[in-house]
Amino acid sequence: MKNKIIAIYPGTFDPVTNGHIDIIDRASQLFDEVIVTVALNINKTPLFSSDERKFLLKEVTKKYKNVKIDSFSGLLVDYAKKNKASVIVRGLRAVSDFEYEFQMSLTNRKLAPKVTTIFLMPNEKYTYLNSSLVRELSKFNGDISGFVPAIVRKKLKEKRKKD
Ligand code: ADP
Repeated sequence: MKNKIIAIYPGTFDPVTNGHIDIIDRASQLFDEVIVTVALNINKTPLFSSDERKFLLKEVTKKYKNVKIDSFSGLLVDYAKKNKASVIVRGLRAVSDFEYEFQMSLTNRKLAPKVTTIFLMPNEKYTYLNSSLVRELSKFNGDISGFVPAIVRKKLKEKRKKD
């Protein structure tokens, strides 16, 4: 029997958007198992704690039987090896993503030649969407209904009330 192909999809997911879900959907059809993993050692202060981000990811990916949610700190390639993952999935929205992603994927290849980064493009309606846009819009009570699932909207509203 052929080996299972395990892919990891790392990111900040602060919070998960419909663009992320589009990529998760595509990855779940391509690979035997997809581990969506929240990066913990990022130099920015997130709006949602890692537990909140994982909770939301779990909620919105319930229907995908081959998708797991996790978090990691340290080097991504070490995390990939530990989880026997041979693929790193990243989303490419526009040319603006390219430079950084290109650099990161070649660096990761140097560190772990057997781990391949694969870029997936979302539906064009999500190409301008990112989590910081959602956070900004929500802060000023803008309409984000087309950008994030209902449960994420609810949690953003709760955050707003706490401010
Ligand atoms: P990071 O801080 O690692 O960029 P993000 O949570 O912003 O974390 O994104 C994680 C991954 O998802 C990245 O590969 C990013 O390019 C991709 N991504 C984010 N938003 C979208 C979107 N709207 N469509 C497709 N891919 C996206």
